Amino acid sequence: MATERVLRMKGGVGETSYTKNSLLQRKVMMKLKTIFEENVKQMMSNITSESCWRVADLGCSSGPNAFMFVSNILNIMDNASLSLNRVPLQIYLNDLFGNDFNTIFKLIPEFYQSIHQEKGDNFGSCFIHATPGNFYGRLFPDNYIHFFHSSYSLHWLSQAPKTWSNIAEPLNKGNVYITSTSPPSVYEAYLKQFNKDFNLFLTSRSEELISGGIMVLTFIGREKTKKFNNPAEVIGMVLNDMVQEGLVEEEKLDFFDLPLYGPTAEEVRQVIEAEGSFTIGTLKTMKIGWDANLEEDVDDSILDSKMRGEFTAKSMRAVLEPILSVEFGKDIMDELFLRFAKLVAQLIDELETLEYTNVVVSVTKDP
Ligand code: SAH
Repeated sequence: MATERVLRMKGGVGETSYTKNSLLQRKVMMKLKTIFEENVKQMMSNITSESCWRVADLGCSSGPNAFMFVSNILNIMDNASLSLNRVPLQIYLNDLFGNDFNTIFKLIPEFYQSIHQEKGDNFGSCFIHATPGNFYGRLFPDNYIHFFHSSYSLHWLSQAPKTWSNIAEPLNKGNVYITSTSPPSVYEAYLKQFNKDFNLFLTSRSEELISGGIMVLTFIGREKTKKFNNPAEVIGMVLNDMVQEGLVEEEKLDFFDLPLYGPTAEEVRQVIEAEGSFTIGTLKTMKIGWDANLEEDVDDSILDSKMRGEFTAKSMRAVLEPILSVEFGKDIMDELFLRFAKLVAQLIDELETLEYTNVVVSVTKDP
């Protein structure tokens, strides 16, 4: 099924919402602030004499992280150009149609108030827009945007890969993602889907970006030789146990795969170079623990594996519950994530670290 119809982070502001459980994604943005800042400044020096700056965040979701992007870019551009009062900044927040944009809209007045307090009353030239739509396709007019940002969104594929040979055979029996024991055909099918999607993303953005414009993209990647690259592998293990106990239908598990793919940095480079519209600036990887969804003032080192498992489960539930409950039913969600927390705790005891390998890439649109 197309991802655009089923994918959304858990909306609202409740205990299990994305709003309340996206500290991990927030920490990723904080860690990459310097790269972000350097690229915004570079873009401003590439493109001079504009009457309005237009920037977009792709896959903004519904929580406070969208405002972190907005306030970061506003501060950087304001400091870099004291004339921002006269040159308006238009900020476009994009996500899929099912995203809870209302939670964002309700936070806008508070945000405007805080920048007025911080920067004075004559600062009125920042306009926030919403752009609902699929970033695997066009979102803006030709030559329109100066700067694109996307964090923790591009590992979502437009759809789960299909079995190319025989539709009646499950591609990835007993799993919902690539694991270290998957046959090569599973990895190849995922890679094929990623190459197709990421190429479409790049061609769409290259039409929309002004020459000299920059994109900074961060997403979950993969290390080829690592055993657990993504918590989705553990979700598959839990679902398998639940099949054995008759709590989940075997066929459902066999035919369901998550529309996610973590590319290696090299796979990312190959697609960008083959597409041909951009020059790569930065391309690197950055690691962060699966359990980084912690309160900011908690010292990570004092936490035991049980708590780490629980943090990982909360963070994953806010992301995966909507899509998993369409497939497996709402009723099993509590049990699924309880078991997931326990299994992650056990794996932490055995392996000590469970980390995401994030790919960070910045590219400039060629003239
Ligand atoms: N950038 C935010 C949110 C990350 S969650 C943060 O860092 O916290 C990933 C978001 O990407 C989700 O809200 C999801 O709906 C969105 N997304 C996934 N595929 C998308 C697509 N094809 N087009 C637009 N948004 C997409």
